[in-house]
Amino acid sequence: MPELPDLEVIREYLTPRLMGQEVSAAEIYRPIVLRNLVGRSAADRLRGRCFAGVARRGKFLLFHLDEGTILAVNPMLAGRLRYGQPLPRRRVRDVLVLGLQDGHELRYHDAKDMGKCYLVRDLGQIPDLADLGPEANDPALTPDLFLARLRRYPGEIKGILTNQRFVAGIGNAYADEICWRAQLYPFRRRSSMTGDELERLYAAMQQVLAESVATLRDRVGEHIDVEVRDFMAVHGKGGQPCFRCGTAISEVKRERRATQFCRTCQPGLMVDR
Ligand SMILES: [Zn+2]
Repeated sequence: MPELPDLEVIREYLTPRLMGQEVSAAEIYRPIVLRNLVGRSAADRLRGRCFAGVARRGKFLLFHLDEGTILAVNPMLAGRLRYGQPLPRRRVRDVLVLGLQDGHELRYHDAKDMGKCYLVRDLGQIPDLADLGPEANDPALTPDLFLARLRRYPGEIKGILTNQRFVAGIGNAYADEICWRAQLYPFRRRSSMTGDELERLYAAMQQVLAESVATLRDRVGEHIDVEVRDFMAVHGKGGQPCFRCGTAISEVKRERRATQFCRTCQPGLMVDR
């Protein structure tokens, strides 16, 4: 599932390629995935418009068009954007394909139909966006503000990091990475943590996100439809030795979500559920 660093790098890649480009053709193959809140047919709304900017908010990419319409894409588990020369055919589960004036195309594909796309005039029309907390990597989110916001959330630290109302952009994978970096047990309750531990958590969040953006910038290139995860320390590394101490990485599945961590570097009382 693309998270803040993945989407940030996709945004950086697409911005110079889409800016000012006219949508010369628009095919919507799966209208059920695209919630059109601006009326008329979505294809008619998109065709002939020019891209005026690409932004990101939480796990949404926001494609701004020149007359004020916004195409918002939250890829969730399996949605993928592809930019490049037109593919010769439509693939099963393609949601939409936008042909560009310069001959390239932007394609959105979703193998699980779990992603959410919206065509809106006002971002307030998108339910999940209205409730988002500050961006996890926003410089305005200072340590003091982070700690002040945390006071409202007494629960498990991984659950808090992935709560988009607390901070926007972190999902399962980066939450595991941040907890490992901070040497904190992911199921520790925030209310049991010391000031030092919370400061460590803040620093780890900033470092992991910034470093991951830099890594992905090098690694992703034009393949924005491929999710790069192999550089991670614990996510997806169950059973492999921890970089820091050599202990085999543990994996716990709860509510269909896997958490990976190092029992030695991130000590805590194992919770069985
Ligand atoms: Zn370790």
